[in-house]
Amino acid sequence: MRVRNFCAGPAVIPEAVLEEVKSELLAWGDSGMSIMEMSHRSSIFDEVAMTAKKDFIDLMSVPDDYDVLFLQGGATQQFSMIPMNFSSKTESADYLLSGTWSKKAISEGLKFSNINVVASSEEGNFTSAPEIETWNLDSKAKYFHYAPNETIQGVAIHNPPEIDSPIIADMSSVILSEPIDVSKFSLIYAGAQKNMGPAGTTLVIVKEEILGKVTRHIPTMLNYQAHIAKESMANTPAVFAVYVSMLNLQWLKDIGGISFIEEVNNKKAALLYAEIDRNPLFKGIVAKEDRSTMNATFNLTDPALAAPFDALWKVAGINGLNGHRSVGGYRASMYNALPLHSVQVLVDVMQALENEQA
Ligand SMILES: *Cc1c(COP(=O)(O)O)cnc(C)c1O
Repeated sequence: MRVRNFCAGPAVIPEAVLEEVKSELLAWGDSGMSIMEMSHRSSIFDEVAMTAKKDFIDLMSVPDDYDVLFLQGGATQQFSMIPMNFSSKTESADYLLSGTWSKKAISEGLKFSNINVVASSEEGNFTSAPEIETWNLDSKAKYFHYAPNETIQGVAIHNPPEIDSPIIADMSSVILSEPIDVSKFSLIYAGAQKNMGPAGTTLVIVKEEILGKVTRHIPTMLNYQAHIAKESMANTPAVFAVYVSMLNLQWLKDIGGISFIEEVNNKKAALLYAEIDRNPLFKGIVAKEDRSTMNATFNLTDPALAAPFDALWKVAGINGLNGHRSVGGYRASMYNALPLHSVQVLVDVMQALENEQA
């Protein structure tokens, strides 16, 4: 039996997509080969890569003056590529510090640029997002970087800020989960393994006008312009990850696209947060207005109930509910492919614990 998978990433993939992978694993179409066994220069793989890109552009309504790339190295490699490509040792970039991932982006950024941390919620253990009124933006910053959804803490910044600098966003855990006005951003990036497919490929949407302004030497594989020139084929792409992402994007289109999945995602989050707030045995960790729709973090009010609670959710077939090892507690990741029913099962388990303890 497949579990009810609340893992934070790699994460649940739609069962229909996995079935399709299974049926095509030995031979893709009438090629007599698996997609993993053929040249990435073949017309078949070219079609897969082009379809993935086109469907992504359609789903996200990406404007014409942006390039869409499928790279490797994960979101973490973007932490280095961004400062390398858009700032220099003598220039500065603005970063918002709102959780573990933006913190990592800052420490990597410091290797290539001056960094101005515009605001931080670290003192409060990242349990809320720094309010925009408190941000200390630098008018000379080459760009502004933030993580709209901090996957580990479950803190979200729900709307892009209205600021003058080019905005760069780590959307690893929110990409494709809600409509995004791409025109408000200069670069968006996301590792595929949260909401788009398997680990191994990293999505980058980049506005052409921001490119080509630094003078430093950039290694080819870390240079956005090199990847654009070669249409994401500067070397062998992660063929299997791109292929499964393509199937996942088609699945999302078929079920109704991003506005449809946003409704489902909002329902799932509302259902779980309502129970966290109602049930006296649980408490949310993040300030209500900054709660993530994708990753809900919560604690037991009495830590001694961990053993009975853990036993109940495991018996119910739930998997991946433990909080990140750096913060503890619980985290329910509710990406696109997690069925609403799985959240209902979790809520039932929380109520069962309450009844058991009454
Ligand atoms: C998972 C995650 C990352 C790290 O992604 P990798 O692909 O493992 O490098 C970075 N940022 C956010 C917001 C994430 O959720």
